[in-house]
Amino acid sequence: MYIFLDLDGVLVTEDKIPITDLELLEANYAKFDQTALQEFENVIRQYPNTKIVISSDWRTMFSLEEIKSRFSDDIAKLIVGVTPCAELQKFFRHREVLDYLESNHLTKEAWVAIDDIAEHFPKGTPLIVTNCYRGFDQPAAEKLTTLLQAQEAQSLKVKLHLQLDLVPEQKLPAVQWFLNHLETHGDSVLEALINASAAGEERRPGKNS
Ligand SMILES: [Mg+2]
Repeated sequence: MYIFLDLDGVLVTEDKIPITDLELLEANYAKFDQTALQEFENVIRQYPNTKIVISSDWRTMFSLEEIKSRFSDDIAKLIVGVTPCAELQKFFRHREVLDYLESNHLTKEAWVAIDDIAEHFPKGTPLIVTNCYRGFDQPAAEKLTTLLQAQEAQSLKVKLHLQLDLVPEQKLPAVQWFLNHLETHGDSVLEALINASAAGEERRPGKNS
């Protein structure tokens, strides 16, 4: 899944510092909020197939390398680019996301935008809106986890469909049943698979030795 990530109001929280305190304002300028960053990175770490595209105005002020350097190394590796700048118009940030997907032939990819300004996107867009003072917080992390989990279930289903040719004929009805079940109970099937693999890990001899 592609994540189009805004920074100001998401990983850089809006200052509540009085505008007169210039020294403090300068010290806090363009600094990532470490709680928000950690909250975001903890989610992404569970889904290493995720790709992150920076949609923030930062892309016009800093190089991609500079932006990446603010993230942990493992997460920075998942940042694949920045959106192009569209003309300032209604929903311009949504336009920029679509332009990025079109020019990279990714229009069939699942995506979600994370932004503190809902008005940049038309209704019905896959969007997680953050509170600009809190940034990417726990409720945002829960929403993103749900989306990434659903996406993982979906791509597992696609993979299984693609491999139907390889299934021996006598086992096809069972696999077909599984796929239908996945269709209606995707989340719970995925959860059962995750639990089963965790239980397998625990049972493995010598794990704690
Ligand atoms: Mg913003």
